[in-house]
Amino acid sequence: MTSVAGVACGQSAAVAVGPLDPQIASALKQVSSARIQANIEQLVGFGTRSTLSAQDAASIAAGHGIGAAREWIKSQLENYSRDCGGCLEVRSDSFLEGRGERIPQPTEITNVYAVLKGTDAEIAPQIIVVSGHYDSRNSDTLDTTAAAPGANDDGSGTAVSLECARVLSQLKFRSTIIFLTVAGEEQGLNGSRHFAQMARSNGWKIQAVLNNDIVGGDRSPQQDPSLVRVFSEGIPSTANESDLKQLRSLGGETDSPSRQLARYVVETSRTYPSTVQPLLVFRLDRYLRGGDHMAFNQQGYAAVRFTEFREDYHHQHQTPRIENGTEYGDLLKFVDFDYIAAVARLNAAVMASLASAPAPPTKVYLQTKQLENDSTLSWEASPAAAGYEVLWRQTTAADWEQLQSAGNQTRVTLPQSKDNVIFAVRAFDSFGHRSLPVVPVSEP
Ligand SMILES: [Zn+2]
Repeated sequence: MTSVAGVACGQSAAVAVGPLDPQIASALKQVSSARIQANIEQLVGFGTRSTLSAQDAASIAAGHGIGAAREWIKSQLENYSRDCGGCLEVRSDSFLEGRGERIPQPTEITNVYAVLKGTDAEIAPQIIVVSGHYDSRNSDTLDTTAAAPGANDDGSGTAVSLECARVLSQLKFRSTIIFLTVAGEEQGLNGSRHFAQMARSNGWKIQAVLNNDIVGGDRSPQQDPSLVRVFSEGIPSTANESDLKQLRSLGGETDSPSRQLARYVVETSRTYPSTVQPLLVFRLDRYLRGGDHMAFNQQGYAAVRFTEFREDYHHQHQTPRIENGTEYGDLLKFVDFDYIAAVARLNAAVMASLASAPAPPTKVYLQTKQLENDSTLSWEASPAAAGYEVLWRQTTAADWEQLQSAGNQTRVTLPQSKDNVIFAVRAFDSFGHRSLPVVPVSEP
């Protein structure tokens, strides 16, 4: 029992996602920078992956354009499935996107993904998604023929989804995992919007989306290859007037489900340390930019974005060329494959931890009917949970600071004032895999 700045009781420790699971650790060791390199070389080899580029049979056969890229991704996922006895269900979801600012004529867009079905009937409906966009662009977003290598943007994120699929398909998980690659990102997040809307209308219970976009670790001298930024929204895109009223009154601006997911990434890096550390950025995305995680946020799903620490704008959205001695273009030689492998390991560790954990507790309530200095929390039992933990932190702290086990109880009273801290409750299984934490609301 320790005390931090008046927050008494509980265990003060760097909060992690549980003890190291040897099966997960051994899967992480299988992540291969050589395979990631080969996959990105293959993607770059299609010349352009502009969403508006060729998709006809002849171009696919010739290995040029986005149609060829799509077919190749599908065949990779099918290979991984063969290697795990058909454990992956590989799907291509095509739709016709109408004319828009960056889409001069109606264009077929295809998301390609693989589903690793959860093994626990009660928890399998919960879905964890890793995503990258396989489309690319050069200086002209409407150009359909000139080179658009997209090694970093987003060959790197596509390679993360593929490598996670290869490695994690060797294991079994309670929850379902989807390894997603989308197109249309550069034309306006078309593929991710279609997927997120489809998921919402089908009632899919997506718990977490890890969007990897520009995780190539550009080799510019100012790069810090020991960091990967993790962007997360604060006030949820879907907050309504009554949600905003509560946020204004009680705080919680920094406790969206996406932010809990971002914290979970840091907690994962404590259990499975790596050469690349997550750097939390409490912001939806970078200035002037957006990404596929936003399409999921807009459907009310927790989603974060992974991006290298420092981007080099000469190496993104540029037609390859040399001008006044400066080389432009999103080329293979600027990408650090060991860095991408480390980012893939972090993603895989987050997914494996989440997919092994029980469901997060539901109906998590804080009693607020009377003035008192103790705090009482209650929740409903979750499937496969061996027990629960209450986390808390000072209102100004970025990350959880203290925790206390509640055993297998679903109600606990703690001797600290709810006025001074932010609480959350998470579930763990008999091994110790932790779920995402859930911040309570006032008991109705
Ligand atoms: Zn991108």
